[in-house]
Amino acid sequence: MAEFTLELNDDQKQVKEWLHGFAADVIRPAAAEWDEREETPWPVIQEAAKVGIYSLDFYAQQFFDPTGLGIPMAMEELFWGDAGIALSIVGTGLAAVGVLANGTEEQIGTWIPQMYGDADDVKVAAFCSSEPDAGSDVASMRTRAVYDEAKDEWVLNGTKTWATNGGIANVHVVVAVVDPDIGSKGHASFIVPPSTPGLSQGQKFKKHGIRASHTAEVVLEDVRVPGHCLLGGKEKLDERLARARERAKAGGERVKNAAMATFEASRPAVGAMAVGTARAAYEVALDYAKTRSQFGRPIIDNQGIAFQLADMRTRIDAARLLVWRASWMATTGKPFTSAEGSMSKLYASETARDVTAQAIQILGGNGFTREYPVERMHRDAAIYTIFEGTSEIQRLVIARTLSGMPIR
Ligand SMILES: Cc1cc2nc3c(=O)[nH]c(=O)nc-3n(C[C@H](O)[C@H](O)[C@H](O)COP(=O)(O)OP(=O)(O)OC[C@H]3O[C@@H](n4cnc5c(N)ncnc54)[C@H](O)[C@@H]3O)c2cc1C
Repeated sequence: MAEFTLELNDDQKQVKEWLHGFAADVIRPAAAEWDEREETPWPVIQEAAKVGIYSLDFYAQQFFDPTGLGIPMAMEELFWGDAGIALSIVGTGLAAVGVLANGTEEQIGTWIPQMYGDADDVKVAAFCSSEPDAGSDVASMRTRAVYDEAKDEWVLNGTKTWATNGGIANVHVVVAVVDPDIGSKGHASFIVPPSTPGLSQGQKFKKHGIRASHTAEVVLEDVRVPGHCLLGGKEKLDERLARARERAKAGGERVKNAAMATFEASRPAVGAMAVGTARAAYEVALDYAKTRSQFGRPIIDNQGIAFQLADMRTRIDAARLLVWRASWMATTGKPFTSAEGSMSKLYASETARDVTAQAIQILGGNGFTREYPVERMHRDAAIYTIFEGTSEIQRLVIARTLSGMPIR
């Protein structure tokens, strides 16, 4: 049996150092500019592609780390650099995971390379699930996919919102309803290939934070995609729908809980992003508290400041441990009997929100300006309690898992 350890192995340490170098030398110096520009930082993505950080291979290597720590470690370092730019770098991964999870070998081989492009011509991809009336309540999704048997094509109609890279992506992965009677089990995912007529970008959102990441509506008007763009294929879909209809008849609980299990496994990655932002703000605050003097001594000499820093650091370390536990559980196939994935995301995202606010307070007036990065980090941190399931939804999932109530 493997010895228990929280120490990174040599390979992990090397990767961590390499990522940290990229975050410190390339991402962090570009952060303020792209936050102001509120645009996708294409040159930074290109740099990441050149060194191999923007690629499926890189994420696959981290994903298959048998300890489960590869992905959280990578996310923490990149988001330590800057959350908006890092999301632009890892956002394509959301769509790629959608294809990896549901696609056939052929679909994976065809579409994932087109999502990333190459270092000379980088591309991005978008994962489009949320809708104006279906955010937390995914089951109320309305975008419809109807099969045109004569042409072996699917016809998609609806409006997606909040899509990271929506409208600027080379490949869009769109979740749509194929059977409205069985809730989220009646959903299927489709590839919308580059330049498909009928797909257009709606409103591009001007955001509070992570402004270097593009977020927009995606409008689908009679978008026709070939039958082979249904992820997993028609036969598998028909079998899955038949099973889901049977289970729905027998009582919907198992159906809903299966869907929640998928989210449980992906949530620690978002927790790790939050840990990265929190750690970045904490480091700035610690450094400032040691060098800023008032009343003839560094402000850290006041317990009121020192204790805040102690609490900040304690919460960050606790958040990381929850994230690592959940990632280890997901990788080693341990069941999330207490919604440990949701716990990690909930705690880490609220830690990032609170720690970045404390960092502003410790920097005083300077913390409130854009001359110092903690103001941006605090705006960025606000996203973590919202996307990939809000804090309220995490609490709901945890409470219902603990009580044995069905998760709706
Ligand atoms: C910057 C950004 C990027 C995003 N990227 C993507 C993306 O790439 N792809 C994608 O598909 N989506 C994406 N999202 C969407 C994101 O996942 C949703 O915003 C999120 O799921 C919340 O949905 P909503 O905004 O509709 O809020 P709502 O669901 O309307 O929630 C509003 C409030 O009500 C609370 N609430 C809702 N239901 C309950 C309940 N049962 N009990 C208690 N409280 C409840 C919520 O917690 C929240 O506080 C992104 C969002 C943002 C802001």
